[in-house]
Amino acid sequence: MDNNLTPLLGMTLQQLRSVAESVGLKPFAAKQMARWLYVARVTDIDSMTDLSLKARAAMKKLYTVGRRNPKLETLSADGTAKYLFDGVGQRDIEAVMIPDRDRATICVSSQAGCRMGCTFCMTGRQGFHGNLSTCDIINQVLSIPQSADLTNIVFMGMGEPLDNLDALLQAIEILTATWGLAWSPKRITVSSIGKLKELKTLLEVTKVHIAISLHSPYSAERRRLMPVEAAYPAVEVIELLRSYDFAHQRRLSFEYTMWKGVNDDLRHADSLARLVKGLDCRVNLIRFHQIPDSDLRPATTPTMERFRDRLNDLGITATIRASRGEDIMAACGMLAGKQEHKTI
Ligand code: SF4
Repeated sequence: MDNNLTPLLGMTLQQLRSVAESVGLKPFAAKQMARWLYVARVTDIDSMTDLSLKARAAMKKLYTVGRRNPKLETLSADGTAKYLFDGVGQRDIEAVMIPDRDRATICVSSQAGCRMGCTFCMTGRQGFHGNLSTCDIINQVLSIPQSADLTNIVFMGMGEPLDNLDALLQAIEILTATWGLAWSPKRITVSSIGKLKELKTLLEVTKVHIAISLHSPYSAERRRLMPVEAAYPAVEVIELLRSYDFAHQRRLSFEYTMWKGVNDDLRHADSLARLVKGLDCRVNLIRFHQIPDSDLRPATTPTMERFRDRLNDLGITATIRASRGEDIMAACGMLAGKQEHKTI
């Protein structure tokens, strides 16, 4: 992509109106551009054939569509596919496509690296290298080979989505607007550690599903696993969530990765149930995927089942999330944006 040209992908209708104006087109041309970008999904300005040749020539001097194909595709034995894209600076980013019976979910990245520093996460270990633009986010959705078949999007890839709030909100607008991809917000889930102010904004201005990374019901222990507990205590996040309605369209879930001897006993299950009691929510129990240079070990399957059953007995809906793409380093916490795997 020519770095002197501004990408059109990732622009809202309002921004496309300014583009139209800048090349002497009437404002309604913005709707035509949006249709070419997000419905017809063209990859170059020449393909926008209902804009005059003169307008297209003027646009090409200032703008580019901004679509970029993945640089690398890695396939898992279970059908999961991981895609490597140019990210920010020298750091690449990854998106993961997870097929599951009648669903095809893309897990998108929102940042190159992450500044939250969770000790169990490969992305967190590499530090922060920059925010992705809305173009970078939408490009992941449109440029994987299975794009047309996608049914769901989860913001659970590299980065903390609420640490890049403006780009996230703009991406959600494009994904859900009638002039954009026209997806229902029920097909979109944003996962977060719970940055309070930004979480409140997300809850106010969108209807997407929310997933909160919890991992421990105890503040001191969560702080060891997730240093951001100091700034955004889980109790405050949950207090905020109690003022919103999750009984109807919008879903709330808590992510709970299970480590052997750390947070996998029934005392934790009881405390977790007390913490979220009264909220319309579910708890996703996540199998830990061993990462290099870490003392953390995965909880055993019988332990996870016992934990799940205890939560269910206490009235909290809990499920063990199936592990996908572990063999290609595509599972939760394993994304590193590196070309260290085998290409197929
Ligand atoms: Fe960032 Fe999420 Fe990894 Fe924590 S788990 S370091 S928030 S990417």
